[in-house]
Amino acid sequence: MLEIIPLPALKDNYIWLLKNKISRHVAIVDPSEAEPVLNVIKSEGLIPIAIMVTHHHWDHVGGIPGITEQFDIPVYTPKLEPVAGSTNPVGEGDIVSLPELALSLEIMDVPGHTSGAVAYYTDDMVFSGDTLFTAGCGRMFEGTPPQMHASLSKFKTLPDSTLLYCGHEYTVSNLKFAASVEPDNTAIQERLRLAEETRNLNSPTVPATLAAEKQTNPFLRCEEPDVISAASHFSGKKLNKAADVFAAVRQWKDNF
Ligand SMILES: [Zn+2]
Repeated sequence: MLEIIPLPALKDNYIWLLKNKISRHVAIVDPSEAEPVLNVIKSEGLIPIAIMVTHHHWDHVGGIPGITEQFDIPVYTPKLEPVAGSTNPVGEGDIVSLPELALSLEIMDVPGHTSGAVAYYTDDMVFSGDTLFTAGCGRMFEGTPPQMHASLSKFKTLPDSTLLYCGHEYTVSNLKFAASVEPDNTAIQERLRLAEETRNLNSPTVPATLAAEKQTNPFLRCEEPDVISAASHFSGKKLNKAADVFAAVRQWKDNF
């Protein structure tokens, strides 16, 4: 009865719609712009029930006013960040209850990309915004490497079958970088081949399972000998701590 729909927006953003296929209720994650959301609401006769925001960047919140002008619905936003139009600030351990979708989402704080970023998760899915990407992670605009590494480690505690829904279509370029970090990792090569095929059909490569992320996302693999060794080579010194390995891989990616 629940369908998760990607709405491509701006250059490479995804707005996620959580839709009850029978009742047509819909929750909206990270509305970068209002227009594509309002269009699909109109064309499919959907009933909006909530907006959920992962962080304060304009390309995740820009559509809030245009949607709430027409629909008086709660707007869940990270409580540590200012977001215009917020009605329900949320943080670690809070629950967003959406009975129309028979869904409860739990919040985890995942600072690093921004200082108060949150993720929304259930038993089988997680909305990560720009913190964890398919095969990559966000830039650290407001956080430190230990903070971002700790946030990414929290995603690793979710079940392997969890589907990761992130805020941008970056999989192919992320996997090209991953292949440079771990040239001998055949899972990366195979995933890159599939992701390129998918993109050639103009289809989304998101979501992905956390199992696939753990095998191919270098930012979740900072304890792996091959990643430690590549990061040490990049930084010109032997790295021991996972957070230092993460910092080196992130810096490498920033210049890739
Ligand atoms: Zn962002």
